[in-house]
Amino acid sequence: MKTLIPAVILILVSTVTASLTFSQDAGGSVIQWDPVEGSFDSLVLRCSETAYETEDPDWGMVLATVYPDSSGEFPISVQIPAAYIVDPDECIACGICINQCPTDAITADIDGKAVIDPELCIACGICANVCPVAAIFTPSSGLFYGLFGVNEEITEEFIQESVQ
Ligand code: SF4
Ligand code: SF4
Repeated sequence: MKTLIPAVILILVSTVTASLTFSQDAGGSVIQWDPVEGSFDSLVLRCSETAYETEDPDWGMVLATVYPDSSGEFPISVQIPAAYIVDPDECIACGICINQCPTDAITADIDGKAVIDPELCIACGICANVCPVAAIFTPSSGLFYGLFGVNEEITEEFIQESVQ
């Protein structure tokens, strides 16, 4: 999986420690992290098949963007709905999954790439099984999660990652 925003600059900070945790509840997946220090406009949660502190990391797709509350504090967790998602960098716009979904949860975007509506998805997994390029997945404990701080220059700074 590759970054969704090619213009974004990613900076790896070697002094931070890994501390994201993944869990599941009735509403889906919950990603939790240590309180964030530093001045950021937003936080970006990324999901990858490889660890973030490797020599040649795969930064993965954006799962969620988190903003500070009215007092300027960031939350320390985010819930991802119990639904499948499509990595637009992997999708080849073949349309196969769209015709297979039992709830019509999948549509094509302007480029023909699949987009899943989490409100309609019942997490049956049919689309993931028929996708020829493995572009559809659901968050799981087998993946890595990375938290990045975003400043006004749209620069992403690595903050924390999950531990497998
Ligand atoms: S997991 Fe099932 S319900 Fe959800 S988008 Fe895929 S085919 Fe549709
Ligand atoms: S089956 Fe896979 S590659 Fe084809 S449109 Fe769906 S997500 Fe994209």
